[in-house]
Amino acid sequence: MLRYFLYVRKSSEDDDHQMLSIDAQLTELRTRAEEHGLTVVNTFTECQSAKEPGRPVFNNMLQRIEAGDADAILCWKLDRLARNFDEGGRIIGMLQRGTIQLIRTHDRVYVPSDNVLMIAVEFGMANQYVRDLAVNIQRGIREKLRRGIFCGKAPLGYVNEPKLRTIEPHPKDFKKVKKLLEEFARGEHSPTSFQRALASKGLVGSRSGKPLPLSSIGHLLHNPFYYGAFLHKGELHQGSHIPMITKATYDAIQRALVEVGRPRHKRGGKGFLFTSFATCAGCGYAITAERHTKKSGLRFAYYRCSRKNRKIICPERSYVREEKFTNDVVDAMSLVSLPDEWREKFLAKLETWEEEAAHSRKQAMERIKAGLDALKKKLGRLNEAFVDGGLDVQEFKELKNPLIAQKAAGEQKLAAIERRHTSWLEPVREWIIEANQAGKWVSEGNFPEMKTFLKKAGSNRLLGSQTLTVTFKKPWNSLAETNLVARSATAKTLRNSDWWSLGDSNP
Ligand SMILES: [Zn+2]
Repeated sequence: MLRYFLYVRKSSEDDDHQMLSIDAQLTELRTRAEEHGLTVVNTFTECQSAKEPGRPVFNNMLQRIEAGDADAILCWKLDRLARNFDEGGRIIGMLQRGTIQLIRTHDRVYVPSDNVLMIAVEFGMANQYVRDLAVNIQRGIREKLRRGIFCGKAPLGYVNEPKLRTIEPHPKDFKKVKKLLEEFARGEHSPTSFQRALASKGLVGSRSGKPLPLSSIGHLLHNPFYYGAFLHKGELHQGSHIPMITKATYDAIQRALVEVGRPRHKRGGKGFLFTSFATCAGCGYAITAERHTKKSGLRFAYYRCSRKNRKIICPERSYVREEKFTNDVVDAMSLVSLPDEWREKFLAKLETWEEEAAHSRKQAMERIKAGLDALKKKLGRLNEAFVDGGLDVQEFKELKNPLIAQKAAGEQKLAAIERRHTSWLEPVREWIIEANQAGKWVSEGNFPEMKTFLKKAGSNRLLGSQTLTVTFKKPWNSLAETNLVARSATAKTLRNSDWWSLGDSNP
């Protein structure tokens, strides 16, 4: 028959106040002892927390069990016995060794064969385990911060290195994001055009597969990670990762964000649409804007060269009225705009090009495959001849080796054709859509988008002789030239042939 020690405990701690009082525990347990006919050889009462080791009554009880005075414990709940690793572990150890043969609580019994983890959970050690884990994670985070490693998901263009737990440049995306950030810093993008540019390069939401939402774009453009620092709980840390852009580029992005962040159609700052946009044709200084009030009381906005030097006087001292300036902007835009009609025609043409390319690829592949089949048959016949004894080893080798070389060459060619896609088609398609979008911005009167567009498509924007001139980059220049020809032409047929010649010259 088992000899029981009865143990009751209650502390004054907050999380213990739901527990039955010591008297209530004693009454309940004595009733159960009677019901089950248990032999209780001693009762231990303690008013102390079990979260920290070092309870005298509890220690005394365990010593007496070790000495063989009892072999079972009766208590209200397992967490009465221990709530820390040391003492919980000690009880589990005694139970597993059989020194304690049974622990009975008000609702169940624990025996040496019970699952240790389950007992640990019952001891309330799970909570402690979670707390310790949290402390360890915090320690890990502090250590990472000390080493300059950002804790979290790698920003776009980077990857989390799973083994070293560092953040490394993405093998492909790093360069793409870098290029676009630099474009943004030069004022060539609005957040929406940046969003489109990312999506066109396949940089989309990892789960959704859709373009990144503008909120993420905003976060990305503000993220100091790209210049080599990072934020942790509002505090800026020096990172040890490879920066994507310089701090100067980052600062330029922040300035560009302020510039484009102003509400559309509203005039922000001093109320001018085209500040930090053009340069003076005479001296290369920035074109600035200012307002004048005429004697009549009418107010006019002007654009002018910002050079102020009494000794060197800029030859371009004239002022250009804002109306004239915005007209020039619209004019430049329409030079690189593609009408809807031609957008559809070009896109259809691209599709036929794509089909033609696919067709010729298929034909080439079939030709090579037929050649390979013939080679294989020849090789098969050679092998047969050799096996039949019609050829000696030397003859066999001389005949076979050139065929093997031909076969390898054919297989490589086939693989190359399979890999080769019509890679030039995609950029042309993007360009057609962008050129068509340019026309839409003109018809919507969306000046902020026109401004970013011209900054991107034009290599420079010069104001000279009261006129804004945009020199277009490739491939916009050929579109601008075609538009100029089309403007001067009167007959519609002539226009059409001009458009098509643009299409032919493009690829
Ligand atoms: Zn000037």
